[in-house]
Amino acid sequence: MDRVDGLTFCQLQDRLERDGVRPFHASALFRNLHQGAGLELESPAENWFRGKEITPVEQALVTESADGYTRKYLLALSDGQEVESVLMGYPGRHTACLSSQVGCAMGCVFCATGQMGFRRHLSAGEIVAQVRFLNERLAEREEAPLRNLVMMGMGEPLHNFGALMDALEILTDTRGLQLRPSRVSISTVGHVNGILKLAEVPKNYQLSVSLHGASDEERSALIPINRRWPLEELLAACETFAEKKKQRVFVAWTLIAGVNDSDDHARRLASLLKGRPVHVNLIPLNVTPDFEGKPPSEERTKAFHEIVRREAELPVTIRQRRGIDVDAGCGQLAGRSRS
Ligand code: SAH
Ligand code: SF4
Repeated sequence: MDRVDGLTFCQLQDRLERDGVRPFHASALFRNLHQGAGLELESPAENWFRGKEITPVEQALVTESADGYTRKYLLALSDGQEVESVLMGYPGRHTACLSSQVGCAMGCVFCATGQMGFRRHLSAGEIVAQVRFLNERLAEREEAPLRNLVMMGMGEPLHNFGALMDALEILTDTRGLQLRPSRVSISTVGHVNGILKLAEVPKNYQLSVSLHGASDEERSALIPINRRWPLEELLAACETFAEKKKQRVFVAWTLIAGVNDSDDHARRLASLLKGRPVHVNLIPLNVTPDFEGKPPSEERTKAFHEIVRREAELPVTIRQRRGIDVDAGCGQLAGRSRS
């Protein structure tokens, strides 16, 4: 059973009721758990809470990038498995990059998490606990608490849909931490069932879809799951999401030198996306142990950017690379499995 910090407000009320405690005590308990409010609990709630645990996460290792802006934490979970969470500093704020699974089942060839295989899903409590842990570290440095989350760490978040939704429900609950759903970004490899389910969820989380190939043949060579959910189905799901949510979908394109970074690739990507409700995000490849690919030069990246921007007439950005020197960049998270 999940620990109490992994229960949504409604689940907490149900648990209290089942245990013979009146559900109105849920408010103070939830605020204590997620806002660190330190409210005095009335005795039935206090007695109930005394026998409960919150999800333990322990810092196993921390590494800081040379520029001091990125800190990567290796966290040990209760069964000894480990995940990584990353804090990225920007002027006046931090963004947290969270993990959703230990390892990943999707097997993308360029990604260190994919290279380690799938170990297990994280529970809702383990996703929430990463945020609590990072906020505690920020508080120690008298820095502002997190306002922005990206589900771009280890794992495929939509493959762990239930736990992800519960965790985000907890983190965005106005009775708790009150993160704004629009500041939570979920990155998916292109899990079509998950995208369609997410389109039905009443909260407006941002969605980012990892594309990396403009034909099924090219995409399947990098992202094996494309064989299950090919491009046409994936783009249709993105359209459904954008229409239902009235918001643009981010399309991520990891640029790999000599693989998907030519003018021709840029043109084909532009014609695939033109007229669609998307924003394109280019990510120069970060080097990982079991993949020989390299990032393109800055010039090539800029040329690619320019073609897509001009021909697709869409917003295109190049993602700032963070923490590469400590393997904290996109696709570099693999805990200690690399050593
Ligand atoms: N599983 C999700 C989220 C985690 S990966 C997904 O695949 O979208 C977050 C982003 O990093 C994805 O866009 C992914 O394609 C990209 N990525 C993975 N490995 C990378 C690497 N070695 N260099 C640059 N980006 C990478
Ligand atoms: Fe999994 Fe995403 Fe890495 Fe692919 S890129 S293996 S989906 S974490």
